[in-house]
Amino acid sequence: MESATPVIVAIDGPAGTGKSSTSKAVAAQLGLSYLDTGAQYRAITWWMVSNGIDIDDPSAIAAAAGKPEIVSGTDPEGPTITVDGVDVAAPIRTQEVSSKVSAVSAVPEVRARITELQRSIAASAEQGIVVEGRDIGTTVLPDADLKIFLTASPEARAARRSGELKGSDVHSTREALIKRDAADSSRKTSPLAKADDAVEVDTTELTLAQVIECVVTLVEEKRAGK
Ligand code: C5P
Repeated sequence: MESATPVIVAIDGPAGTGKSSTSKAVAAQLGLSYLDTGAQYRAITWWMVSNGIDIDDPSAIAAAAGKPEIVSGTDPEGPTITVDGVDVAAPIRTQEVSSKVSAVSAVPEVRARITELQRSIAASAEQGIVVEGRDIGTTVLPDADLKIFLTASPEARAARRSGELKGSDVHSTREALIKRDAADSSRKTSPLAKADDAVEVDTTELTLAQVIECVVTLVEEKRAGK
């Protein structure tokens, strides 16, 4: 699909709703860039842990928030993430980082830093971009052309996530996801929330292919109406 105007798509929702798989596939199909904002929060968390910053001390996190240099590669066929030049794609997916990322991402100085980075990446995407996260439609890119909010039952989300983390059991994955969502939804600064003008898609009973098709159709309709 050709279009002269870059299109900005915001995809938000809790963990395990298929945000990453959907966002990457939609971006690849439509020739758009792709940004995984969760990976950025994980990267800054990884840096805090690696540098011995006390995760339970928001003022220590705030003081260090400006230090690491986080760079995201936005090709949906092979997204990358580095911190101070180090490839952190694997270490940001550990359970340790997953269990600490909500505390780090709740610190306003961290959000301000990462939000600025996200806006500059979106502004420089020539064809447009699919940005996935928790607060993209509400806070980071409130003027996005299309906002999607993905949901799914806790059972479906836990089953998908434990399938991704081969070998982990569904019960503990479900507990960890619920805990992380509660923290992300209740924080003061830009919590996980559906924007008023977002289209909500419940993916519980849908296959990944169906979700992708649904979002691609919504983007194409938006573009046609421009
Ligand atoms: O998407 P993912 O599960 O990798 O996100 C990891 C964490 O990063 C979330 O649990 C949340 O604490 C934080 N996050 C955020 N805002 C975003 C994206 C992710 O606070 N836009």
